Amino acid sequence: MTTIASNLQQVHERIVTACTAAGRDPQSVRLLAVSKTFPAQALRAAHAAGQSAFGENYVQEAETKILALTDLRAQLEWHCIGPLQSNKTRVVAEHFDWVHSVDRLKIAQRLSDQRTPSLPPLQVCLQINVDGGANKSGVPPAEALELARAVAALPNLRLRGLMAIPEPAEGFDAQKQLFLRARAVYDELRDAGLALDTLSMGMSADLEAAIAAGSTMVRVGTAIFGAR
Ligand SMILES: *Cc1c(COP(=O)(O)O)cnc(C)c1O
Repeated sequence: MTTIASNLQQVHERIVTACTAAGRDPQSVRLLAVSKTFPAQALRAAHAAGQSAFGENYVQEAETKILALTDLRAQLEWHCIGPLQSNKTRVVAEHFDWVHSVDRLKIAQRLSDQRTPSLPPLQVCLQINVDGGANKSGVPPAEALELARAVAALPNLRLRGLMAIPEPAEGFDAQKQLFLRARAVYDELRDAGLALDTLSMGMSADLEAAIAAGSTMVRVGTAIFGAR
């Protein structure tokens, strides 16, 4: 077995253990393999081991890999998880299946306008700033509902849920508390009638706490591909 295959197996085991501890169905949590900085060959190895969803942060780097893996395109799902500037939206709209990092309407409008008409709608999560840091990306929780309603109304996009990247916290309980802030916003939006099914949170170091707080998609890089 390759290192990537055995790492993937260990991450799946962590997900199952965390779900069991939280009284959740392991099928309710998807694994997104975060492949930034790793070459297309590493993604091929992960795909051969059964992984199909990949997360990339840097649009230019991702485009190169997506093109290098054209032969697998129909079997792969590409997720953009990095901060998005206006001048990068076209590449995302033309090449990706998902984007997790939408935090303002202008970006969502551009993605909708630029989405290739022959493709299915771009699947969107809004990034929520649960720490309150003014210079961090993400929409403040108090503004999430208004943004979600506006994004949900755009053609060519499908709003699926929320993404959060809280600051690292010391210990399981402290991490879980931060993830629960994102969960609270997710519940608020669903209660307001938005049909959301995705709460993207949890990385290599804190996926257990994220699953305990209700994550439905963990984004794991280091634990699969190694240190960057
Ligand atoms: C890099 C990255 C990850 C993966 O982090 P690891 O600690 O390597 O698992 C997840 N989400 C985002 C947004 C990232 O930038």
